[in-house]
Amino acid sequence: MKKKNLVIVESPTKAKTISKILGDNFSVVSSMGHIIDLPQKKLGVNIEKGFEPEYVIIPGKQKALASLKKEAKDKDVIYVATDPDREGEAIGWQLKERVFNKMKNVLRVTFYEITPAAVNEAFKKPRDFDAKMIEAQVGRRVLDRIVGYLLSPLLWKKIARGLSAGRVQSAALRLIIDREREIKNFNPKEYWEIEAELAKAQSNFIAKLDKIDNQKAEIKNKEEAERVCQEAKIEKFIVSQIKKSEKKRYPSAPFITSTMQQDAFNKLKFNANKTMFLAQQLYEGIDIGQDNPVSLITYMRTDSPRVSAEAINEVRDYISLSFGKDCLPEKPNYYKAKKLAQEAHEAIRPTFIARHPESLKSFLSLDQHKLYTLIYNRFLASQMKPAIYAVTSVGIAAGKYLFNASGSTLTFAGFLLAYKNNDGEDDSGNEKTEKNKMPLLKEGEALDLLKIIPSQHFTKPPARYSDSSLIKALDEDGVGRPSTYAPIIYTLILRDYARRIKGYFNPTELGFKVCDLLVEYFPKIVDIKFTALMEEELDEIEEGRLTKLKVLQDFYAPFKESLDFAQKNIKKEVIVSEEICEKCGKQMIIKWGRKGKFLSCSNFPECKFSKSITSGVKCPEPNCGGELIERRSRRGFFYGCSNFPKCRFVSRTLPEVPRTPDGCPGVTQGNPRKVEKMIDG
Ligand SMILES: [Zn+2]
Ligand SMILES: [Zn+2]
Repeated sequence: MKKKNLVIVESPTKAKTISKILGDNFSVVSSMGHIIDLPQKKLGVNIEKGFEPEYVIIPGKQKALASLKKEAKDKDVIYVATDPDREGEAIGWQLKERVFNKMKNVLRVTFYEITPAAVNEAFKKPRDFDAKMIEAQVGRRVLDRIVGYLLSPLLWKKIARGLSAGRVQSAALRLIIDREREIKNFNPKEYWEIEAELAKAQSNFIAKLDKIDNQKAEIKNKEEAERVCQEAKIEKFIVSQIKKSEKKRYPSAPFITSTMQQDAFNKLKFNANKTMFLAQQLYEGIDIGQDNPVSLITYMRTDSPRVSAEAINEVRDYISLSFGKDCLPEKPNYYKAKKLAQEAHEAIRPTFIARHPESLKSFLSLDQHKLYTLIYNRFLASQMKPAIYAVTSVGIAAGKYLFNASGSTLTFAGFLLAYKNNDGEDDSGNEKTEKNKMPLLKEGEALDLLKIIPSQHFTKPPARYSDSSLIKALDEDGVGRPSTYAPIIYTLILRDYARRIKGYFNPTELGFKVCDLLVEYFPKIVDIKFTALMEEELDEIEEGRLTKLKVLQDFYAPFKESLDFAQKNIKKEVIVSEEICEKCGKQMIIKWGRKGKFLSCSNFPECKFSKSITSGVKCPEPNCGGELIERRSRRGFFYGCSNFPKCRFVSRTLPEVPRTPDGCPGVTQGNPRKVEKMIDG
């Protein structure tokens, strides 16, 4: 039977999932992502002509294009059902403009979950393309292209060919670099804490020194600490005050993109890219033993914690059935979106609350299941009552010293139950049901001092950024958007400006160089506030308050000035090394090439001698004898062997060198893997 309508989405799985819902009258095909984009080998923006983009068909997409055209022939209506955001809108609009010659029967449909109800509802009210949303997308694309394309040659001139700098990534790099310098310059300060182990009858507990003569206790060194201990020891420890209170702990809002990425990193150790990859699979559809794939979560790029009325009703019924009415708040919990969040969007939640993680275990990969469980529990908990703790805090006087002890007991579990009904992550964190259990005490009562324990501490520098804390910072500073957090991090790693070591971003020497150059010549590009403002202006194009032309013009004029100044003034820098050229005896200098750092003779081009800078670690391949060298490729950073191409050893990390008892490096052990598989951005 000939199908009457065509539906275009961006991925084959999503096509299958939707196809099942729409039935026989619709043929659903995939565009395989963007078909049209800016050219790869030139700027592709006509700056004089109002920053007009010069789109081309992406090489290799001709076939996909031809088959779309063929599919579209004789169809009554062509529906573009790509993802409900700027990118999705732009993909569809480009198809209408360039492929279907602005035909009137090309319409847009959007939905935030691929469920029968949401999809059918959306197809009842198809609309025209949103011109403002598209203008905002084009504005962002053009702005990023101008910055990336015009900045990169300056990096080549000063540092090394093949480098590049993007707009938002550079601001993120700045955060990482500033933090690294803060850590390096940090001056740890010594301080001491004093604890008393006290007892009443058979039960003992710990109290902490809080005040001395009614002033906050501040003990700076060992001598002071010892004196306090001596003096306190001979005092009577008397209960001076007992305070009982109730503490409520509220559930968190359901996930939006940034909070999902943070939580998945903190609890599952997934980096942002991995989280988005898995979330996309859950969204587009998974085979769960029915005829076609089923979408398990709502759209994963969102900045709004809003939940549809149907989903609220569903989850409230589920809560009162599964946990009892006393866990259900009288009215649904409401969570506020950030100022500029797109209110039409929805929180990330399961599409069907009765689809318990346990019931899907056999259909999901281990990682898919972990992420689904995280999303499921978070949403379920978000509509439950707060947990309640009974908190007792006790003041204990010992002469002029005042000690403090507090304990808490969980009296009502509330939303915590959502985290305990399966083997998913427990969200209760450090707050155990009972903390520092204390005996029943009365004011005026004397306690036995068992032990007094001084301990030395030092103030700590701030931690390096992780995926989680960087996303949090980008979010709070207004620099990140749901679609940009993961690509920002991915790009920084890929360009080897920072490396992820044990989950934390360590900037590389290259990262420092690029950042410092940008700070010197393009302070605005690496300014967080300026970048946040740019992002806000791009959002305002979508709201219709600004035009793309105005935003681009305002940006370009001062940018061009900095660019011209930099072009005149940037000079290649020369770093002289300690090493002497084996061939001619002149000093060697450090140069940066496409593949990384190397030593070159300062007498170049007369003497062409050059050599690699090795890490000093032996290649772990048996009988190789080479040393490992830092390398960069288009796929990111890795270690390779100095005997390449004879030896093809590669690794993301330096193999650990076991030390023999006399301290000499012994046999090295590596974990050789193919370089293609090592991208962890
Ligand atoms: Zn030489
Ligand atoms: Zn080797």
